[in-house]
Amino acid sequence: MVKSISVLGSTGSVGKQALAVAERLNIPVKAISGNTNIELLEHQARKFKPEFVCVYEESRAKDLKNALADTDIKVGGGMSALKDCACSYADCVVTAVSGSVGLLPTLAAIDEGRRIALANKETLVCAGEIVMRRAAEKGAEIIPVDSEHSAIFQCLQAQGPEKALRRIFLTGSGGPFRCMSREETKNVTPDMAVAHPNWNMGAKISVDSATMMNKGLEFIEAMHLFSVAPDEIQVIIHPESVIHSMVEYKDGCVIAQLGVPDMAIPIQYALTYPERAESNLSAPDFFALSKLTFYEPEPEKTPCLALAMDCARRGGTAAAVMSAANEEAVYLFLSGKLGFNSIYDIVADAVNTLASTGTPTLESLQGADNAARRFVLENYRKYRG
Ligand code: MG
Repeated sequence: MVKSISVLGSTGSVGKQALAVAERLNIPVKAISGNTNIELLEHQARKFKPEFVCVYEESRAKDLKNALADTDIKVGGGMSALKDCACSYADCVVTAVSGSVGLLPTLAAIDEGRRIALANKETLVCAGEIVMRRAAEKGAEIIPVDSEHSAIFQCLQAQGPEKALRRIFLTGSGGPFRCMSREETKNVTPDMAVAHPNWNMGAKISVDSATMMNKGLEFIEAMHLFSVAPDEIQVIIHPESVIHSMVEYKDGCVIAQLGVPDMAIPIQYALTYPERAESNLSAPDFFALSKLTFYEPEPEKTPCLALAMDCARRGGTAAAVMSAANEEAVYLFLSGKLGFNSIYDIVADAVNTLASTGTPTLESLQGADNAARRFVLENYRKYRG
């Protein structure tokens, strides 16, 4: 079990749950970060008494500094403070920020040999090869928090010293609009998209689940985390979300990880690994489950997933462009400026316009990320639907 943690994105959905898990397991919280929710950050700081709090939105850092003036908690703002939060205070960092903002702090923590409890999938989607190579060089452990990847990671504990993995079955609920046609999803509103049937999550990932882009990001995340080729991952739609993913070994045996859909389980495992600790959760009620169902995704009905799988095969900057364009498109959708179906349209156009092949560097990936965001912000008004 880790000795202490810092939490990037402590005011978000996974961040709040990470603090709750730390509290239950008596793990000291040494540093936390948020973006603009000063009130909640102050509340968390007073409760967990970290040494350091980062406010990513630099202009708001002084508000928190004033609010915590009666304490000896240090407050910082901006990217340098976020990196500091990730690497300077604890032996494990939970990266629960949303978007590619998590990349540089994750690299900083890797350089210090910290354990990364990785909940920020965009980091691996954007720069998976660089991040995994650097982690291997520095001996930093990356333990996935994403429920599917935690499941795969747990299933892989059954593997012997030799690679025996044949295939990964990456499961997904299919999102709330699984049975709708493109014509029918045209009028999906942000409220409809954030209400996920099985998981309680933040707004960005809920929209990603609704478009199935989340499964696409997870596909690329899995490729990097477990060093497998795209053809070694099969996505399976499993609407009940009881099986969180499976692996097939070369002898044909399949090992699955099952559980109730609660992020506390993968968060806790990332902190206790290789041990397990008590939790207040129980197994799914198998007698109440009448059946588990599985479907093969149809590319025409899941265009964002198909696009992500295509970007995975293209390599280069394609996945970085896709992920950054998707972030901006999702925020435009959430603020009512872009239609639900246009998320795919504009992200696909960004990839086709901007993606380049060849081995990317950190600089070329950040350039691609910036260009993708600009493309979306400059062009979104042209999209209808
Ligand atoms: Mg997931």
